[in-house]
Amino acid sequence: MELEKVLKDHFGYTTFKTGQKEVIASILSGQHTLAMLPTGTGKSLCYQLPGLMLQGQIIIISPLLSLMQDQVDQFKRFGEKRVIALNSFLSADERQNALHHLNQYKYIFISPEMLMVPYILRKLQELTIALFVVDEAHCISQWGFDFRPDYSKLGEIRKKFGNPLTLALTATATKKVREDIIDSLHLEDIVKIDSTIDRPNIGFYVKELHDFRDKQDVVLELVTKLKKPGIIYFSSKKVAEQMALLLTEKGICQAMAYHGGFDQNTRILIQQQFIYGQLDVICATSAFGMGINKENIRFIIHFHMPMQIESYLQEIGRAGRDGEQSLAILLYAPGDEQLPLQLAESELPTEQQINWLFKRIYDEQIHKDGKITLGVELMDLGGFSEIQWRIVEDIIINTPLERVNLERLQKLIKEFVHERLSIKKNNIYCMKKWVESNFCRREYILQYFDETLLHKVHQCCDICGLQISDYQTKHAANSPSVRKTEQNWKDYLANILINSELRE
Ligand code: ADP
Repeated sequence: MELEKVLKDHFGYTTFKTGQKEVIASILSGQHTLAMLPTGTGKSLCYQLPGLMLQGQIIIISPLLSLMQDQVDQFKRFGEKRVIALNSFLSADERQNALHHLNQYKYIFISPEMLMVPYILRKLQELTIALFVVDEAHCISQWGFDFRPDYSKLGEIRKKFGNPLTLALTATATKKVREDIIDSLHLEDIVKIDSTIDRPNIGFYVKELHDFRDKQDVVLELVTKLKKPGIIYFSSKKVAEQMALLLTEKGICQAMAYHGGFDQNTRILIQQQFIYGQLDVICATSAFGMGINKENIRFIIHFHMPMQIESYLQEIGRAGRDGEQSLAILLYAPGDEQLPLQLAESELPTEQQINWLFKRIYDEQIHKDGKITLGVELMDLGGFSEIQWRIVEDIIINTPLERVNLERLQKLIKEFVHERLSIKKNNIYCMKKWVESNFCRREYILQYFDETLLHKVHQCCDICGLQISDYQTKHAANSPSVRKTEQNWKDYLANILINSELRE
């Protein structure tokens, strides 16, 4: 059947977006495929559509629970009910039930952690896997900005499934990361489809300012004038909250904060209000955005410098999905790189923590029977954050003690931490170089991803003469959202502030 007809009949779309048809055709011709398509170009369709035409099940590895849930909902909107997400959201009963009836599902989403559970793996091995999809495939590579140790085992898992047809999808991967994905998944003979990462309708602007206060004033001014809706990204939950409060209090716009400290219901509520236009601006940490399909976002402001160009590109990629002119503004004040540096360090276990843990392991013989059993209480006792603990635990669990002694194991962890830190520092350095550069910002980013700029756009970047005034609303002075309901919002905000646990 013609692909366009399937697209129209099942998904209601009349044309393919850039890259989709090539990827789908490559999969349907039985070729392993690595596709790099920009955020918002409809990567999901690249496995949704082939799934309708292939015999057998489609397994999709997805790193984020929230993203997985969004993808399942997307399927349901198209009337596809044969879809399940195997993750920790399922109760033990639901999971048991799903595992017993796995062959009734066509599309199975699964987190890499769940895939490592031997019982679940065995159940999946009983299926006929038509397509093995690795979403956010850059997580495979140590050089990727979001390296997940579990992802690096996917090559082995693929072998256990009998090397099924594979589709690796990513929006942001440098050449080195793409090579790593291919090696790690043991994919010989692969078709690589790289669509440009350029988003011509998004203009870049970097504004150098003196200090924090200066940045705050500029945000108030920008939000008053710019066409909305928009997202302002922060690295600090506290500053995100303060800014949302300030924007609302001053009657500039309807704004809310969003970060991982809010409970699930509050997060969903804020997200929905933004999607349905009840909020003009979200002051968010990087926890906001994955899976948000809001077409008309007009600006993305970065109050703090992101930790790498890859995540910057993903975050600004949420603007202008309707193709209309949109703006990405990054505010920089001297010393701003200190915050990402601190964050990078805080995500890794410290030398003292590692030494403390190994002392406990030596002293208390936790390595009985050649195995180290790590009680969860050690995480709290050693002051490890969840992310720090995951790193240590993962290396310890996956390094058999028959092969290395404890001393070597301790050294291995330290080496790993050292290497990750230098990769992260280098990423921050690249981001800062982009901020300081006098070279076209668009071209710079494209070169970072080994791409050349083919078509110069009119509204390119501050270096090429872009003016922020071109993105202003016609009624800049009159803030559209000074509301009758302001008091309700203040009460609501106050409630959230009381209920949320602020780290800073
Ligand atoms: P990505 O994972 O690349 O960010 P998604 O797969 O979530 O993007 O899709 C983004 C949006 O584009 C979704 O709302 C989806 O329904 C829509 N979409 C996908 N393919 C098409 C198409 N061919 N035509 C129109 N809209 C599409």
